Amino acid sequence: MTRRHFSLSLLALAACGLPSREVSAGAAAAGPTGPGVRDLPEDPPTVTALVRSDADWQALLAPEAYRILRRAGTERAFTGPYWDNHAAGRYLCGGCGLRLFDAADKFESGTGWPSFTRPVAADRVAIHRDVTLGMVREEVVCARCAGHLGHVFDDGPAPTGKRYCMNSWAMVFKAA
Ligand SMILES: [Zn+2]
Repeated sequence: MTRRHFSLSLLALAACGLPSREVSAGAAAAGPTGPGVRDLPEDPPTVTALVRSDADWQALLAPEAYRILRRAGTERAFTGPYWDNHAAGRYLCGGCGLRLFDAADKFESGTGWPSFTRPVAADRVAIHRDVTLGMVREEVVCARCAGHLGHVFDDGPAPTGKRYCMNSWAMVFKAA
C-alpha cells in the first residue's frame, strides 16, 4: 500500500467534514443562489476562468455559500439542502453557475453530503492536493470560479470508483 493510498483510506472515514471547519448550514431549504447562475452559461464550449474580488464574492453569495466556496468550509453532515435530494436534474456551481454534476451520477453514500461518481465533464472541476490539518486529501474546486466544492475519494461505486463528496451549499440544483 502506498503512502498516498493509506492517506486516502484514512480520509474516506473522515468523509468531507472536519469539526474545526464546520459551517452552519442555515435554514433555507431552497438551497444557495449565486448571481453567476443567472449570468453565465451552464455549458460553455470551453471553461474560461472567472475572477472576482473577495469583497465581491462576499457581497454576492449567501453567508453559507461564501464560507464554503471562498473559505473552503464544510457544511455539517445531513444539514445541507441536497444530501437527500433524489430528484432528476443538474447541479450547478453556486458561485458561477457552471454545470458540475448530474443527478444521474449521484449515489447514496450515507455520509450526509451529496455524493457523485463523476462530474458531467472532466474539465468542469479541478483537483488540488489539500494538505491542511495534517491530512492529504484531493480538494475539488470549480474549474471556472475556483470555488471550493468538497473532496474526492477513491471509495466510490462503479463505474468510476470515485466518491465526489460535495457541499450542498457550494451548488445550486436545477430540476430537470
Ligand atoms: Zn464556479
